[in-house]
Amino acid sequence: MILDLNAEQNAELPEKGRLLFAQSCDFMLGVANLKQLPDYALPEFAFIGRSNVGKSSLINALTGRKNLARTSVTPGRTQELNFFNLGNKIRIVDLPGYGFANAPVKTVKRWHDMIYAYLQGRPNLSKVFVLIDSRRGIGAKDLEMMQMLDDAAVSYQLILTKSDKVSSSELEKVKASCAAKAAKFTACYPYIDVTSSAKGEGIAELRGDIFFWSNL
Ligand code: GDP
Repeated sequence: MILDLNAEQNAELPEKGRLLFAQSCDFMLGVANLKQLPDYALPEFAFIGRSNVGKSSLINALTGRKNLARTSVTPGRTQELNFFNLGNKIRIVDLPGYGFANAPVKTVKRWHDMIYAYLQGRPNLSKVFVLIDSRRGIGAKDLEMMQMLDDAAVSYQLILTKSDKVSSSELEKVKASCAAKAAKFTACYPYIDVTSSAKGEGIAELRGDIFFWSNL
């Protein structure tokens, strides 16, 4: 949902989002070195979160493709930023996850430096979505990520994942606690999307939000 729109405008977004995401979505390239980044031609929407938060599942649900984003990479693997082209209209960027248990310090530093450089150097980056597991809420690593986004002055929005795993009262509680924590971050948009890739909940709304932010 977009807070600055009236109810009628908001109601139209899911259909516009559906049409946007009905177009073909193709893997473009994986970037391990920022010198390989693609041009600024299209608005980019990046997804990030703790490993296992449900990021690949959400990207697959959004694009209606089963295996577009590969699930859970292991900590030792080269960490890549994966770019997908959606109908030559926007790009979806799958950023490498954070918070692996026992990740070597060197790997974490490399991840941090690469993500921060990407965030700071992308004029076409429309929005970053920070994924939060509905069962866990915002943890220390997520707060670090949100601080990094604030420092880079990049607009971002929280998405709760795996909403089917908690009861509706637990969901309300986690949403309220996330909103309270998010209020302290200036670059965080004050609306939280609630999604379940397994049940399809919140997917149409999120597509509509992306349509809106892409200014198409
Ligand atoms: P990633 O590491 O963030 O890319 O997470 P994945 O998409 O690989 O998901 C991690 C695990 O959570 C997998 O076992 C998924 O099947 C599961 N998962 C992801 N999304 C959902 C969801 O919406 N509901 C449920 N119940 N499980 C999910």
